[in-house]
Amino acid sequence: MLRRLSPAQLRALYDESKEKMPPPQREAWLNQRLARQLRFACSHAPAVKKKFDDAAVSPRSIRSIKDLERLPVTTKDQLVKLQQANPPFGGLLAVPPHSLSRIYVSPGPIYDAWGPERVRAAVRGFVRMGVPRAGDVVLVSTAYHMVPAGLFLTDALDVLGCTVIPAGIGQTELQVKILHDLQATAIFSFPSFTMTILKKAEEMGYDVRRDLNVKFTTGGGERHIQVLRKVFEEQYGLLVGDGYGTADVGSVAYDCGLGQGYHYDDEECIIEIVDPQTGKQLGPLEEGEVVVTLFSRVYPLVRFGTGDLASYTDQVCPCGRTSHRITRILGMIGEHIRVKGMFVHMKELDEAFSALPQVSKYQLVLRLEEHRDRIVLNVETAPDATRDALPAAINKRCQDVFKLRMDQIDFLPKGTLPEGHRKVIDQRWA
Ligand SMILES: [Zn+2]
Repeated sequence: MLRRLSPAQLRALYDESKEKMPPPQREAWLNQRLARQLRFACSHAPAVKKKFDDAAVSPRSIRSIKDLERLPVTTKDQLVKLQQANPPFGGLLAVPPHSLSRIYVSPGPIYDAWGPERVRAAVRGFVRMGVPRAGDVVLVSTAYHMVPAGLFLTDALDVLGCTVIPAGIGQTELQVKILHDLQATAIFSFPSFTMTILKKAEEMGYDVRRDLNVKFTTGGGERHIQVLRKVFEEQYGLLVGDGYGTADVGSVAYDCGLGQGYHYDDEECIIEIVDPQTGKQLGPLEEGEVVVTLFSRVYPLVRFGTGDLASYTDQVCPCGRTSHRITRILGMIGEHIRVKGMFVHMKELDEAFSALPQVSKYQLVLRLEEHRDRIVLNVETAPDATRDALPAAINKRCQDVFKLRMDQIDFLPKGTLPEGHRKVIDQRWA
């Protein structure tokens, strides 16, 4: 267990006046911290130094966020290659490896070195929102294996002084019983799984408001939380937390509670929305890639391209905060999809299906059904393939490679999928 912070220490994590600082002052503050961070990163992380050298840029010459444009964006694929060439962290670690308390693994595989500042950021988020608080009993119904989600949240809740029930995913009926027996006050999970638990509770005869003690829910990894948010709030009277982050950079933006998009967490990082082709920064409401530079003294990623497509606004939020906000996450760029809370690389799809010679062509169609991601797989089979056992074989293979099952498998007549067809069609954003 990590050390619990005292109420005074918790209060010190969060300074509302900083969040509402006038925009010119904010810009100067960020520029100054960015310059200091880049000098630190170059002198402690060899891969960051090389990034500057290759671009013939001196860290001292970067004096503003705008100057970051002179450096290239490091994509997820490049991060995988950096780590493979120079394992395990690709020269991006700024501390001795044995000082890390957690190393997370995300698809690629990518090894993510999470320092204490990521936990601190999550705790600050809870303090900012006012929930959960010390004394809350939190059901953490999210994965604990390989991905940061479960353990990372547990770390943050420990620091806050909550009691954690590490429940993981699945066994919905048991989750309901735990919620009831232990009178948990909060659920941390992907919104669709939280919804599944609440629906199950009703099926089991519970009245969520009367028989359970849940007041708050939060979770990420799914973009349709806005749809579910209303249901959580109106039907179940829950407070809903939401944020934006990835396994590589952690949580970097948050919803202030007004549903006005995701405020950049300026304490922890610089966010740019850039043209994915040129790396140049875009203006408000233009669509581009979310690129993050962390203020980390452990794993100082500089201009890391998340692969998420978004736009931003620089208008002051009705909550009074002046940080820029991601207005919407619009989807993904290039080689990754995020479905059911998991990141799946296109390479992993190919890897899964290349071991199934009975499948000659495949296409994943991602839909939203009753608030949940649904994966429909369209398959054309090889001429001599028998179809009887194929769905089971496909699901086993997909689960082995990227931990997901298909919700539906449709066999298509040969020739339905044209040459060069898209392997993933995402209909969830329509
Ligand atoms: Zn706000």
